[in-house]
Amino acid sequence: MGFKRLALIPVLLFCVLLTACGPREHSRQCFAMDTVMTLTVWGDESIPGELQKLLQNMENDLSVTRPDSLVSRLNAGQELTLSREYGELLRRAQVLEEETGGAFCPWLYPVTKLWGFTTGQYRVPGERELETALASTGQDPMHWEGDTLRLEKGAELDLGAIVKGWAGEQCVSRLKACPEAVAALLSLGGNIQTYGEKPDGSPWRIGVQSPFGEGLAGTLELRGTWAVVTSGGYERYFEENGVRYTHILDPATGRPAQSGLASVTVVCADGLRADALSTALLVMGREKAMALWEAWGDFEAVLIEMDGTVTLTSGLENAFSPAG
Ligand code: AMP
Ligand code: MG
Repeated sequence: MGFKRLALIPVLLFCVLLTACGPREHSRQCFAMDTVMTLTVWGDESIPGELQKLLQNMENDLSVTRPDSLVSRLNAGQELTLSREYGELLRRAQVLEEETGGAFCPWLYPVTKLWGFTTGQYRVPGERELETALASTGQDPMHWEGDTLRLEKGAELDLGAIVKGWAGEQCVSRLKACPEAVAALLSLGGNIQTYGEKPDGSPWRIGVQSPFGEGLAGTLELRGTWAVVTSGGYERYFEENGVRYTHILDPATGRPAQSGLASVTVVCADGLRADALSTALLVMGREKAMALWEAWGDFEAVLIEMDGTVTLTSGLENAFSPAG
């Protein structure tokens, strides 16, 4: 055996070892959008840091509580020319409001801010205040001229119900542009975004939180790229005189949704749609939610009622295992 062939042996061994080990896992924790996020990416070390920056920029632009965000400036009556991405986000939000019959309402801020759910200064608003606020949330307030947007006077956006789902979707676009990043699991508060196939060949295992306290209601096993988004009153609420007021509001009444559902988990390929839907289905209740699932056919859901009854759409029957 010549020297050249001998020299090849360590190179070959290295390659075999690399293949055996598979792509390395890189994880990072950060705080953004009012929640702890864990970003795990297989195969590329720099991507978790990049995704963190992406998420923080989105928060700066879209937060309703930051006075200098794009959303706050629109809410203050400014006319703004938006980037292609943000223009698309808001136009898709408009369409989803219509498609859900207003159960998801991206311009509900005059009402949500009365309850203090975005600021943490909770209170039960009076009847008159609610009526006045509801008057400015009744119809689509967006006026577009090309990419330039202005809101109707008195109207205010709150994208809290969709921003994390959309963020997951944007992270997937970034991951797709990086061939070394073969898979990812992004935990963005109540939102999970999976990407690709887990390198060890096992499915993604995603816990569905019990809405009744600590622990899980069950586990979902999925393969590939999915948004898994949960909405539930248990995530944010306050109590006054023995009554619990939860943060998901029925845009028809301006009061916390009382649909009989304690939580909704939506699985959908489209992150923004998953997030808008998780909120909308919780407002609609089980029957309307199931009717929407029949009609749309592009999402699956786990519906948990206040009495603990769990309803699965048929696409999840083999994917969901209830907690033992
Ligand atoms: P999520 O946890 O995705 O269901 O979003 C809940 C947040 O969205 C709340 O904290 C409010 O800021 C806002 N919100 C509440 N009710 C609605 C609704 N019916 N439509 C749109 N946004 C809402
Ligand atoms: Mg949502």
